[in-house]
Amino acid sequence: MIDVQGYAALDPSKPLAPFSFQRRTPGERDVQIEILFCGVCHSDLHTARNEWHNTLYPSVPGHEIVGRVTAIGQAVTNFKVGDIAGVGCLVDSCRHCASCGEGLEQYCEKGFTGTYNGPVFGGENTFGGYSDSIVVDEKYVLRIKHPDNLAAVAPLLCAGITTYSPLRQWKVGPGQKVGVVGLGGLGHMAVKIAKAMGAHVVLFTTSPDKKEDALRLGAAEVVISKNKEEMAAHASSLDFILNTVAAPHDLDALLALLKRDATMTLVGAPATPHPSPSVFNLIFKRRRLAGSLIGGIAETQEMLDFCAEHGIVADIEMIRMQDINEAYERMLKSDVKYRFVIDMATLQQR
Ligand code: NAP
Ligand code: ZN
Ligand code: ZN
Repeated sequence: MIDVQGYAALDPSKPLAPFSFQRRTPGERDVQIEILFCGVCHSDLHTARNEWHNTLYPSVPGHEIVGRVTAIGQAVTNFKVGDIAGVGCLVDSCRHCASCGEGLEQYCEKGFTGTYNGPVFGGENTFGGYSDSIVVDEKYVLRIKHPDNLAAVAPLLCAGITTYSPLRQWKVGPGQKVGVVGLGGLGHMAVKIAKAMGAHVVLFTTSPDKKEDALRLGAAEVVISKNKEEMAAHASSLDFILNTVAAPHDLDALLALLKRDATMTLVGAPATPHPSPSVFNLIFKRRRLAGSLIGGIAETQEMLDFCAEHGIVADIEMIRMQDINEAYERMLKSDVKYRFVIDMATLQQR
């Protein structure tokens, strides 16, 4: 076994604190990675505080991992010691069901193994990236082709793929007007990626002070979603909307912006039950409301390669491991520009 230092939540109400644990010694097909950087996803906060009512404690969050390979099993062929590698939201799946067969491990019919909070339907817990090392089967490890700025690459492993996957699924491209709702970790990646795919991006935000940033990140237009007149100017005009909001909100006002037959896809996962939208907004223009979960391993690699090719990384604020609890509080106030990333070299500091 390998001794690991990390940070964990021990119960929903306590702040995260230093935590020591063990990981398996690398098996034949395993890659051992020294974690250099780990992004802070809103899902980490939902999980640490048991907001989805499925957290296994102790909980070591973190699924936006970039690090250096320090050991490999005998059968490993894709990685060598010293390589830079990434780990995203899932570290295993059944490998046999129809979804796994199609490379859609996130929809594994037996339930995939999360990088943290592991098999939520039973079995042993898994510990994520708020730690100094991780051991993962090479099949679930990603190659990083970005030449530098690795801290800003980390958020691609969740925020990047969670937005890239639906943008691809709904065939976003040139000539389309695409809405992104919420300028947080996911939203700012969605703006950058949709722009790189050639779309005309309209950002919908509740935070007027984010307007300049949204334009700089690649939005062609910014709409303050609480302003009814600004919203009305876009009625029935959008080809697709990607909604990243982390809390219950008014879906009707957004659905009314879709063209006939267009889709709004939800990726935000609020902690409390979400009010349903009005049926009329859907039936009168045959509009669709959909959801999407992260992305499979092959598509995550495709996204990383796409981002490397287009020079896309996250806009980050680097934090020390010790600052994680304060970072969570700021995240709850939408005060993140636009992803916190933990510098894991700080783990040993006091
Ligand atoms: P985040 O950085 O906190 O961003 C969320 C953004 O939503 C905020 O910056 C804010 O943007 C907006 N927002 C927050 N509260 C709002 C409210 N009450 N009404 C309207 N807008 C509000 O979070 P994130 O890391 O991007 O994650 C977003 C959500 O996606 C979380 O629920 C997370 O768990 C979920 N998630 C889902 C998947 C998946 O596979 N589907 C993957 C990762 C994360 P403005 O200030 O611009 O309004
Ligand atoms: Zn995430
Ligand atoms: Zn499966």
